Parts: sequence; C-alpha cells; structure tokens
Amino acid sequence: MTNPFDLSGKVAIVTGANTGIGQAIALALAEAGADIAAVGRTPAQETVDKARALGRRAEIVSADLSTIEPVQRIVDETVDKLGGLGILVNNAGIIRRADAVDFTEEDWDAVVDTNLKSVFFLCQAAGRHMIARHEKEGGGGKIINIASMLTFQGGIRVPSYTASKSGIGGLTKLLANEWASKGVNVNAIAPGYIATNNTAALQADEVRNKSILDRIPAGRWGDASDLGGAAVFLASRAADYVQGHILAVDGGWLAR
Ligand code: NAP
Repeated sequence: MTNPFDLSGKVAIVTGANTGIGQAIALALAEAGADIAAVGRTPAQETVDKARALGRRAEIVSADLSTIEPVQRIVDETVDKLGGLGILVNNAGIIRRADAVDFTEEDWDAVVDTNLKSVFFLCQAAGRHMIARHEKEGGGGKIINIASMLTFQGGIRVPSYTASKSGIGGLTKLLANEWASKGVNVNAIAPGYIATNNTAALQADEVRNKSILDRIPAGRWGDASDLGGAAVFLASRAADYVQGHILAVDGGWLAR
C-alpha cells in the first residue's frame, strides 16, 4: 500500500519560511517529499539549504506580503522555478500589542493587511491555478492557513491580530465551501502557544508566561516542529475529504 501522507512530486509554497512555524512546516513538508518555494521578505536560505539536504528542490521567492502586490508573482515564480503548485501554506503573520483604547490605525492596518488581506489574495491566485489544473488534469490542491487560539478566543491587547485570525477562520470555511467541489481543500491549523519570535514578549513576561503554562494541559510551550505533522496531514491525500476544518495543535489549551 502506498503511504497516504507521501508528498513526493508536490510543490509547496510556504510563506514566512525563514523562521519559526513557517520554517518548521516547510521542512516537515520537504521531509514528506514536497519541493519548497520558500516565500518571504527575509531570504529563507537556511530553510532552502535544509530542504535541499533532504534531497528536495527548494527555491527562495522574495516577497513582502504587507501588500497584495506580490501575490500573482509568487504563484508565477513558483510554477516557473519548480514546475507546478499543489500546496499553499499561508503562514506569514505579524502581531501588534497595545490596549484597545490606545490602538492605532497603523497597527490595525499593518496586521489586517498582512494576516488577512494578503492571505485572501494569495489564496485567490493559488486557487485559480489549482482549479484550472484540476479541470485540465486532475490533482487540484491543498491550502492551509495558519489560524490561532484567537480564531476561537478574544485575547487581550491584540485587537487587530484577533480580528485577523478570527477572519482566517471564516475565510477558510468560505473558500472550502466554494472550492471543495473544484479539487481544492482549504483548511487551517490553529497553533497554541508556540515558542517563536512572535511570542517572545509573552515568554519574557514572567506573570503571563506562568499563567499560560498553568493552563496548557501538556505543561509546556509548543515547539514549531510540533506543527509539522498537522501540516503534512492536511497537505496530503489522507486529508482529501477534510474541508474547512480548523485543526488546533495546542497541547490541549482549548480543552481547558
Ligand atoms: P515569527 O517567528 O515572527 O515568524 C513570522 C514569519 O512571517 C516570518 O517569516 C516573517 O518574516 C514573516 N512575515 C511577517 N511579515 C511579513 C511580510 N510583510 N512579508 C513576508 N513575510 C512576513 O512567528 P511565528 O510564531 O512562526 O508565526 C507564524 C504564524 O503562526 C503567524 O501567522 C502567527 O500569527 C501564527 N501563530 C503563531 C503562534 C505562536 O504561538 N507562535 C500561535 C498562533 C499562531 P521576517 O522574519 O522577515 O519578519
């Protein structure tokens, strides 16, 4: 029997692939057989080198996702350099922290533009390619959006982040509704508290750090590599009938 999680011959775009969760997901997909387009504003050289060391093809695609200007080019460059596109992981994201009463328009727009607007338009560009390919030769595609615990909860001092990640939940379901019959699976992964740059401020805050750890049934912060298995699953044919799902990988946080 062939391995249902095998990604050999697939090409995956991973945004924000130079560090943290994006790098871990890119390398997990590469380990499962996928070739990698490592997209971001900081060149993901280490990720590309490690994917190549695993025997995969891997290319850097430079793009700043604070606007939607690069989205079509990302798809075109990936197809040109790697010969196709079957998997998109929308991972690039930012966070800004301030009390709601003081929150600025700049902090609102920066986060919502990167975390939600660019995600939608990159889904659109990739989705058009995947749907056209499905109609022509079968195969379709898999899209994985990176959500958050704040897709389900309110959070505190992060209004634009909560709005963007709650939006990712709705967008993932909308796209699944439209594209499930067109060969494209759209799902999301909601990481719990993962030790990366994104959460450095929380990890450094003794009081918040303790209250977070006290609530995680697993008793530890997640590591970026904890997300790899969920990404491989959702990118693989094992998930062909999984649509519009938001898969929490959170050490049990939401179960509390
Ligand atoms: P991270 O280490 O800060 O990584 C964020 C990635 O996004 C970096 O590669 C960053 O590139 C990229 N990025 C940010 N703005 C960009 C832009 N304008 N254009 C292109 N790339 C951009 O954080 P992380 O924790 O791995 O976060 C990855 C994703 O997981 C985010 O969507 C985040 O919201 C989500 N998430 C994280 C956690 C957690 O606990 N860590 C929990 C839930 C969800 P640069 O290096 O160039 O800045």
